[in-house]
Amino acid sequence: MSILVDGVLALDSGAVVSSLSLAAQEKIKAVLLTHSHADHIMGLASLSMHFLLISATVEVYATKDTIDALLTHGFNDVIHPDFTRIPSLEKPALRFHALETYKPCAIDGYTILAFPVHHSVPAVGYQVSSEDGKSMFYSGDTGPGLSSNWEYIHPQLLVLDCGASNKWSAQAPRAGHMTPALLKPELREFRRQKGYLPHVILVHMAPPLETEIREEAAELARELHARIDLGYEGMEIEVQENVSGVRVTEEEMANIVSEEK
Ligand SMILES: [Zn+2]
Ligand SMILES: [Zn+2]
Repeated sequence: MSILVDGVLALDSGAVVSSLSLAAQEKIKAVLLTHSHADHIMGLASLSMHFLLISATVEVYATKDTIDALLTHGFNDVIHPDFTRIPSLEKPALRFHALETYKPCAIDGYTILAFPVHHSVPAVGYQVSSEDGKSMFYSGDTGPGLSSNWEYIHPQLLVLDCGASNKWSAQAPRAGHMTPALLKPELREFRRQKGYLPHVILVHMAPPLETEIREEAAELARELHARIDLGYEGMEIEVQENVSGVRVTEEEMANIVSEEK
């Protein structure tokens, strides 16, 4: 799992090595990790080795919980070399920066806000805002409860976990994942609070469930009068500066609310 923003900011590093050319990897200015699970941090060791050989540093941002987990279980000279100490402490191949939730952080011209989300290990979602006023929210892996963050964000794009199909809705929260049915109240609440619902991209679908999730997501989009797509490897998205295309009028809103009752 990885999302590359403007070619320079990697949200999770699961695919940065497997999907990007060496030249594209070298353009990465910062990696933001949502949590410590392998599918989100994969690639970090190879990227660090690459940066070591070109005398550069991989700058990684994450919460303290995630950093501690990676140092203890990953970069411990048993699984991977401790790239935070080589070739030197002053200029290591890998450098961690601890982020705090709800505290804006400036990274390479972007404003980053991390929000706690419900998962099986400490995890955050990120709002990434660029200087030209565009912003997106990426949930990382999450179970229900996302809507507690809606009051703090104003994204033009939502990239959300939808790991499982509706038949798994009872089990998914325990694993810290979403289904289309579980996403429905979260998206409704977004629209209720903000008066619009931006383009939604679902990610992290378990491959055997993807066909079911696709059908259920299409149904959800119809019910919510929303634009909901499934992400795929290599997908490119241009974030629109305004969300008027998905902003509903008061009259449409009244219809949607009455249909939902
Ligand atoms: Zn996870
Ligand atoms: Zn995951």
